[in-house]
Amino acid sequence: MIVPGVKYVPGRNDYSDRDGQKYGVAIHNTSNDAPASGEASYATRRTDGVSAHFYVDDREVIQSIDTKYRTGHAGSSAGNENAVSVEITGTNSKSRAWWIANVAWDDLGRVLAAVCRAYDIEPRRASVAEMKANPKVRAFYSHDDMRRAWGGTTHTDPGGNFPWDYLFASVKQAMGPATPPPVQEDDMTPEEQRDADIWPNGYGDAKTNPSITLGTFVRNVGRDTEAARKELEELRTQVAELASRPAAAVDYDQLADALLRRVIAGGANPANPTQ
Ligand SMILES: [Zn+2]
Repeated sequence: MIVPGVKYVPGRNDYSDRDGQKYGVAIHNTSNDAPASGEASYATRRTDGVSAHFYVDDREVIQSIDTKYRTGHAGSSAGNENAVSVEITGTNSKSRAWWIANVAWDDLGRVLAAVCRAYDIEPRRASVAEMKANPKVRAFYSHDDMRRAWGGTTHTDPGGNFPWDYLFASVKQAMGPATPPPVQEDDMTPEEQRDADIWPNGYGDAKTNPSITLGTFVRNVGRDTEAARKELEELRTQVAELASRPAAAVDYDQLADALLRRVIAGGANPANPTQ
């Protein structure tokens, strides 16, 4: 994936990948203060086999390699194969305040939100134990985490002061609120759709109450949907209360049905026979 809207400077050392799938995000620092544009430019000609998908500084994010390819960043094949690699300008000795002031957090958050969505990666840091147990853990990790989990390197970046909380806040903000599960609207009749809007948990399906849908109830009784929903909530509460009394031999379904029919009978029409 080339992230839409990101500056793209195609670099060298893009290695073929078995399936192009990625599972984690590896965070590095560049161990120097050169700007991302300088790193991305160097990546177009470097001959040491090293590469990264993204370079970041205080101004911008530059994509260097399509995320479907492997990059040479980890020292271990597990890291190289499984991770999207991010090189952020800076060194291990930088302070937390320096990091907070010197990374284009909004742009980085937007880019990594796109990566997380594309590969179903969680914006959280994996533990080394998790990484050892599962090299395809769907989370973020540092170069130092990769060293401890998978070896193959002496690098310990991005350093102890790197503000992971800032990183994840930026990514989560760009991802927005969690989306509810999709509703299969295509398979619904207009009446069923209306019922689903009013009563998302599916009150009164055809099995328990074949003669009426909630949409019909609302139309027949002639009330607005909020009032109807509230009344049904109250009825349901009353029914549950009655049914919970130990001495009373109450058939919950029967009682609910009877109460609902009584409410309907109070409206202009009985159940619509065309339903
Ligand atoms: Zn590194």
